Amino acid sequence: MASIFSRIVAGEIPCYRIAENNDFLAFLDINPLAKGHALVIPKKETDYIFNIEDEELAAMMVFAKKVGLAIEKTIPCKRIGVTVIGLEVPHAHIHLIPINSIFDMDFSKTKLALSPEELEEIRSKIVANL
Ligand code: 5GP
Repeated sequence: MASIFSRIVAGEIPCYRIAENNDFLAFLDINPLAKGHALVIPKKETDYIFNIEDEELAAMMVFAKKVGLAIEKTIPCKRIGVTVIGLEVPHAHIHLIPINSIFDMDFSKTKLALSPEELEEIRSKIVANL
């Protein structure tokens, strides 16, 4: 069965889309740790990030860098934390999270509950900074 992220790629499930090219898609995490928390995924479904071919993985990180810099311009923070977990959704993804301290990368924290309007506002500001 297609992963939830493949269904997003296919347009079957909506997302707050930040950027895409032929191979990758970036969108806001629906249950963010911080405002601007985004995910970068390969459009081709692969569960484990280290099963992605070298060249594609390198390109994915370059794509994530571009998105991360736009998030950093948009959301006041010390830097963008970059991490891969992948225990919930079996479709490789890089988390990009605006952080001010190590505690902002704590995935056991309660997630933010942002309204659709707030998510859309964040999304459009990030897109404007791309
Ligand atoms: P992980 O697999 O890295 O442990 O976590 C998966 C991440 O994907 C979580 O941060 C979760 O909030 C996010 N997520 C799960 N389902 C959806 C979805 O349908 N849409 C979006 N935008 N994010 C999702």
